[in-house]
Amino acid sequence: MFDFSRTPRYNPPMTVYSYSRINTFFTCPAQFQYRYLLKTPSPLPQGIELFLGSRFHESMEYLYQQVPKRIPTVNEMMDHFKTHWDKHWQTALQKQKEMNFNTPLRIVREGQTVEDYFEKGQLFLENYYHQYHPFDQDQTVGIEMRVAFDLDEKKQYKMQGFIDRLGRDEEGTLWIHDYKTSAQKMSSEDVKSEDQLALYQIGLLQNPKFSAKEKIKLIWHFVAFEKDQVIGERNPKEIEWLKQKYVSKIKTIESAKDFSPKTSALCGWCEYLPICEEGKKAVENRRKKKEESNGSPSTVASAVETPEPMKPAPVEAPVGAAAPAVKPIRNRRSSFKPVNPDQLPLF
Ligand code: SF4
Repeated sequence: MFDFSRTPRYNPPMTVYSYSRINTFFTCPAQFQYRYLLKTPSPLPQGIELFLGSRFHESMEYLYQQVPKRIPTVNEMMDHFKTHWDKHWQTALQKQKEMNFNTPLRIVREGQTVEDYFEKGQLFLENYYHQYHPFDQDQTVGIEMRVAFDLDEKKQYKMQGFIDRLGRDEEGTLWIHDYKTSAQKMSSEDVKSEDQLALYQIGLLQNPKFSAKEKIKLIWHFVAFEKDQVIGERNPKEIEWLKQKYVSKIKTIESAKDFSPKTSALCGWCEYLPICEEGKKAVENRRKKKEESNGSPSTVASAVETPEPMKPAPVEAPVGAAAPAVKPIRNRRSSFKPVNPDQLPLF
């Protein structure tokens, strides 16, 4: 077992934090230590969910780079997705060879194949395309745009991140877009406590290219859902409170002496599971519990409660209604502008 007591205290001169770096510490300090302090190479291949998410983001980047000049056809979008999927698949094969991995990509969910995820990606893309065509809900201001910002006046606590896409609508409002390929969709209540995009709002407000009085909205696209968008916003008071919250989180990280494993359902998805004894025990216990409740033997994979269950793209339906199978919406135009956040839970 890894001797956590012998690892150095975390006290870098000036770390620029990302949302995921901070989040990792509070999810599992051991994972934080492996990833950010010890920089331990993952003993496992990349997860298929991350692979799919990256390919979807590439497609969005391509789409919105093209839109000011011409609108790509849906077939061109599909071709772009496939070309990049194939290219990165080759890279994954190469890495498998170099690292001696069992598989090019890690699939935790039992019964799922690489092809299943490829098809999901195509479906997400097609749904998105038909929902937003001709992509004039706002004008793109930036794609994969880096934001760097201070959380305090003395500039001691710094963060950075990347906005998937920033748009400005006809009324002058800036929209921070984020694309999620997970099968879990947040409600408008959930996004009130979802900090990532609100932190990027701080970055925009500190950017001299924008006014400190910009009206900013946050929009998540849960692309596995027929109606993908969830909208949120934060007022100035909430933004100030958020800064203090993240300064406090960074202080906790920087004074940490204990990086013990914190087991959870996420262990089954952790890239350090093979070298984490606590995590392995937790996954095994879950497997046994599941086996007992099912009354039949189960595999390790089936014991994992996935945080991102990539089931065939589900659709959120109004309360009380049966959810239909997801299907691409053709010839229908949808704008996020008129949507009242209060309506979102009804999606
Ligand atoms: S396997 Fe679980 S406990 Fe171990 S490092 Fe990963 S998340 Fe933490």
